[in-house]
Amino acid sequence: MRKLGLALLMLSIVFVNTSVSMAHPGRTDANGGHTCRTNCAKWGLKDGEYHYHNGGTTSTPAAPSSSPSSPSGSNDSKSTALKADKIKPPAKGKLSVYFLNVGQGDATYIKTAAGDDILIDAGKKEAGEIVVNYLKQLGVDDIEVMISTHPDADHVGGLDTVLKNFKVKAVYAPKVSHTTDTFKNFLVAVKKQGLTIKEAKAGVALPLKGVTAKFVGPVKTYGDDLNDWSAVLHLTHGSNTFLFTGDAEKKSEADMLADNQTLKADVLKVGHHGSVSSTNAAFLKAVAPKYAIISVGKNSYGHPAATILNRLETAKATIYRTDLNGTITAVSDSKKITFIKVK
Ligand SMILES: [Zn+2]
Ligand SMILES: [Zn+2]
Repeated sequence: MRKLGLALLMLSIVFVNTSVSMAHPGRTDANGGHTCRTNCAKWGLKDGEYHYHNGGTTSTPAAPSSSPSSPSGSNDSKSTALKADKIKPPAKGKLSVYFLNVGQGDATYIKTAAGDDILIDAGKKEAGEIVVNYLKQLGVDDIEVMISTHPDADHVGGLDTVLKNFKVKAVYAPKVSHTTDTFKNFLVAVKKQGLTIKEAKAGVALPLKGVTAKFVGPVKTYGDDLNDWSAVLHLTHGSNTFLFTGDAEKKSEADMLADNQTLKADVLKVGHHGSVSSTNAAFLKAVAPKYAIISVGKNSYGHPAATILNRLETAKATIYRTDLNGTITAVSDSKKITFIKVK
C-alpha cells in the first residue's frame, strides 16, 4: 500500500516521460530510516547501510550497530567540518546576490530590491542545514522562487532541508528526472508543500517585481547529460546583469548562443565549478563578464581547471571563488555592483 502510494506520488510529480526506475524505492520504516541500495558510495554510505534522509527530527538513529569509534561519516571529514560563514543581511532597496559557501557545490540566494527571495540550489545534502543557517542569518521568512538547476547531488542535495524549514511559493526545475534518493527527497519535499514543479526552460520568465529574470537555458533536451539540462537564469536589475549557469556544459552553451538569448552579464556564476567542460570561448565572449564567480570546494575533479581560470583572466574578468573568498555577496544599486567577501 505504502509502496503503491509512493509510486503514485513519484508518477504525479515526475513530469518526465521516461520511465522512473524504482530500483530503490526509499521506503522508510517506522523510525523514518531505510537501507541504501543504489549509488551508496556517492552519498558516503556503504551498500546496505541503514540511514536517514533529513527525517525532520533530531532524534538520533536508534543505532543499528554504528561503531562508536567513528562518530559520523568517518571518510568525509571535510563535509562535517564545513560551517556557515558569518554574512551580512541584505541592504534595503538594493539587490543582493549571495554566492553561499557550501563547500563543493552550488547555492545562490538572491534578495531583490522589492523584497523577493530567490534560492538557486542548496549544495549537497550535508549543506542543507548550512543553507538554512545562512537564510536565517539573512532574515529570510519565505522563499518566492526556488530553482533546482539540475538533479545532481551537489546542487539539489540540500533543497529538501530548505523546503522543510521555509514556506516556498514556487519551485522551478528543468524537465529531467533522476533515480537517486537525494533527488526523490527533493520531489517529496516539494509535494509536501503542496507544490507542483514549474518547468525551467529557455524563454520562461519569473514573475518578480523590479527585475527581469528569465531562463535562457536549457534550450533543448539533453538525455542523460544532467549538467546540460541545467536551468540557466539571466537576471537584470537596472543596468546590472547576472547569469547563473548551474553546471551547463558546452552543448548547452552552444545551444544558448544559437538561440540568440541575451547572455551578456556583468556577473557570471561560472558553469560547472570552473570545469573545462564549460565556459567555452565563444560563450564567454558573448557573456563578457566583469566578474566571474566560481562556487567550489575541496574536490577530486580538479575544479576549477587552470585552463578556465586563464580564459577568465584573459577575458579580464575579476575572479572570486567560494573556496578562497568564502561567501561572496554582490550588491547592486541598479547602477553599479559592489562585492563583499568573507576573506
Ligand atoms: Zn555541480
Ligand atoms: Zn552537475
